[in-house]
Amino acid sequence: MNEYDSELVRAILSEAGYSFTEDAQLADVVMLNTCSVRENAHRKVYGLIHDIRHGHKGKPVVIGILGCMATGLRKELIDNKSLGLDFVVGPDSYKRLPEILRDVFEKHGQGYDVTLSEFETYSDIYPTRTGGVNAWVAVMRGCNNFCSFCIVPFTRGRERSRSVENVLDEVKRLIGEGFQQVTLLGQNVNSYHHEGQDFAALLEAVSRIDGIRRIRFTSPHPKDFPESLIRVVGENPKICKHIHLPLQSGNDRILGLMNRHYTATGYLNLVEKIRKVCPSAALTTDIIVGFPTEIAGEFEDTVRVMKAVEFDSAFMFKYSPRPNTQAARELKDDVSEDEKTSRIMRINTLQSDISLKKNKARVGTIEEVLIEDVEKAKGGVAYARNDVNKVVALPAGNFQIGDFMSVRIIRATPHQLKGEIIS
Ligand code: SAH
Ligand code: SF4
Repeated sequence: MNEYDSELVRAILSEAGYSFTEDAQLADVVMLNTCSVRENAHRKVYGLIHDIRHGHKGKPVVIGILGCMATGLRKELIDNKSLGLDFVVGPDSYKRLPEILRDVFEKHGQGYDVTLSEFETYSDIYPTRTGGVNAWVAVMRGCNNFCSFCIVPFTRGRERSRSVENVLDEVKRLIGEGFQQVTLLGQNVNSYHHEGQDFAALLEAVSRIDGIRRIRFTSPHPKDFPESLIRVVGENPKICKHIHLPLQSGNDRILGLMNRHYTATGYLNLVEKIRKVCPSAALTTDIIVGFPTEIAGEFEDTVRVMKAVEFDSAFMFKYSPRPNTQAARELKDDVSEDEKTSRIMRINTLQSDISLKKNKARVGTIEEVLIEDVEKAKGGVAYARNDVNKVVALPAGNFQIGDFMSVRIIRATPHQLKGEIIS
């Protein structure tokens, strides 16, 4: 979502006459678009601010913070003299950036706007993409779920969706520019709804656009996955057979404390339904270990569900308390760091074994992949993705970025497949 938002910011500032460089040392203004979902993000950002000033060797540079940290930390950031920030702008205020920058330059003051909006969807801005084969398209913003560990509802505000027509217009324009794959984005993408149209209807409408080859989406919430959505994903050939379905925990007491609105059995039933309608679907997930009060036996329930589902891959995190969230306010972060480390190592190893097993099962199969990157050095290697979002490494050949190729899978590691071109 932040990548998409950075593309929105590019569009807004290009329109206002700014041009862009990827080299922070050449820039007059440097903006850091930040995430604060997990704890370590702001340490990284403070380090980066220091590096940027250092890189500029005394030459003046205007530095601003965008994104979730802006709303999350508010005044703290702007008042912190040692950071010396010039502006702090939250995710719903990017249209004000030209005005804020003008004030910073003309009045030499600090700019600040972290207001959250119930309506802003940036539906009138066409983001400036910087290449690649995938175009992100945010179809909704914000989140109303208030999972007890999660800072997103506080930093990104209430849920709001764009109209189907508006999303279709953007995707048509993208196809006209040569993109063949879009990824529909939302904090809780399957709670998308606009004037009676739900996420399944939106997916179908996007799939009817001429020229679209691949549609992906992220992140859906297990509680918003009706049969109609499973059917669209299973039956529509344009929709990639990969579902990222965050589990978080396999224990019902912890899921209740997390405010996730499903049980382990409910989750497993959903997986069963998905696999029935769409047997080829790859399932990936997010897991949190060491949520407050999680005891060893409850963590074992997560291990059990991971073994039962056999996810293709998983993002695994140690719980960290985030400011304002219900868990941080009401529950003590009482699982020791050592225990969190040992739990995460355990599931890392488990998942790596499962991912390897899943990937090995694809050896010998023929798959269609989309070439994403070609490295000419060292004899040349290319990276592509198959329909279920796995990276396939290939020897560079007579093809280029954006080509669809047919490959045979010849080797597998836990994180990657290796293939050879057939045609
Ligand atoms: N909207 C998605 C998740 C967005 S945040 C969903 O509903 O599942 C991405 C992931 O970060 C979450 O799925 C969760 O696993 C992790 N995460 C969020 N807050 C966290 C916290 N306080 N501590 C550890 N991990 C967290
Ligand atoms: Fe956070 Fe839950 Fe919303 Fe996902 S659904 S963004 S985890 S509050």
